[in-house]
Amino acid sequence: MSSITQTTHESMYEAVLARLNTASQLINLPDSITEVLRYPQKEVKVSLPVVMDNGKIKVFEAFRVIHSTHLGPSKGGIRYAMDVNEDEVKALAAWMTFKCAVADLPYGGAKGGIKCNPRQMSESELERLSRAYAKAMKDIFGVNKDIPAPDMGTSGREMAWILDEFNKITGEDSPGVITGKPVGLGGSLGREAATGRGVMVNALQSLTKLNINPKQSTAVVQGFGNVGSHAARLLAEQGIKIIAIADASGGYYNEKGIDIHDALNYVAKNNRSLEGYSKATKITNEELLVLPTDLLVPAALQNVITQEIAKDVKCKIIVEGANGPTLPDADPILNDKGIIVVPDILANSGGVTVSYFEWVQNKMGYYWTEEEVNQKHDEKMKTAFEKVWNNAQKYKTSMRIAAYITALEKLQLGIKMKGHF
Ligand code: GLU
Repeated sequence: MSSITQTTHESMYEAVLARLNTASQLINLPDSITEVLRYPQKEVKVSLPVVMDNGKIKVFEAFRVIHSTHLGPSKGGIRYAMDVNEDEVKALAAWMTFKCAVADLPYGGAKGGIKCNPRQMSESELERLSRAYAKAMKDIFGVNKDIPAPDMGTSGREMAWILDEFNKITGEDSPGVITGKPVGLGGSLGREAATGRGVMVNALQSLTKLNINPKQSTAVVQGFGNVGSHAARLLAEQGIKIIAIADASGGYYNEKGIDIHDALNYVAKNNRSLEGYSKATKITNEELLVLPTDLLVPAALQNVITQEIAKDVKCKIIVEGANGPTLPDADPILNDKGIIVVPDILANSGGVTVSYFEWVQNKMGYYWTEEEVNQKHDEKMKTAFEKVWNNAQKYKTSMRIAAYITALEKLQLGIKMKGHF
């Protein structure tokens, strides 16, 4: 058995800067603009003392990084994971800036994180921790200031606690201060599946560009959490054969195709894990990444497609459901092999796009049907894909660098017009 391994990288923020530099140079972006975007606007680090169920106090490190507010209030999720650190949160915050700009949302970028292991904490411990985080960030968050959402290790449940704590402190009911909420508390229909849906739309757009019929194509999906499981289900609904799935317990391969509804039922009864899933052959996560397939969807952790893995990858298209799954060193190898990489800042922007719709609905106090949300989402996603595709052709570059270029074109205008100097 192998868990999803991730290679430690000197600095994820450096990886963001490397791609920012490449894109800036290609479009001759004025140095002053690149310089502004090289630094996060604000970094907050707090220590959160929490009473654990055994009566003892444990202190948790927590962060919120605001990378940019040039195009609107900052937007980005909160992750609960053991490897959360300043560098990672900074990189994720910057990616949100570029992601929101690519998706053409009126937002800047931010990210938050708490260093903890949510799987080893009780529900009441997690509630106290989430409330402590909301209290510590009361002056950072705001419906027109900084709007968090779920990320790795968090879901609507944590968002509801954070919202409740924030509302208690401010004395106002302000549902739009956080998105990804449960539907009964101002959450949007379609939000939970939105990141997976965005992956599906990007996959279909890419298949069309390569003249591949989805009904005759195959996909491998790494990660079976919120992003991966919805992506796998939605891809399968398009007639794409899912030949392998994976989670932290390992990979599961069946060349005849995996019944995703069956796998979803299995994890629902098995503590959210694929461990022991018997309708497929057990493989490692590394083996899974190099299976011959049309589509490869890394939708679990960052830094999984290393230089070595890239050399062995045998797919036609990679759609990055996770944030930062590909290391910068792997980019040129994938490009040389002619693999289309739909980068994270485009491929997983469906989540924040529907977060934006949630915020809009909260502001209006009027709610859309799931069909309306999905249709608006698909439209926005196709427009973003097309813009990035066209920039890749125009600048003869990869989809990744083209996505940065698309974002920079918008950011450049915003930064200039605001006169931030
Ligand atoms: N955490 C998600 C992301 O990385 C969603 C962010 C949001 O909805 O604000 O895009």
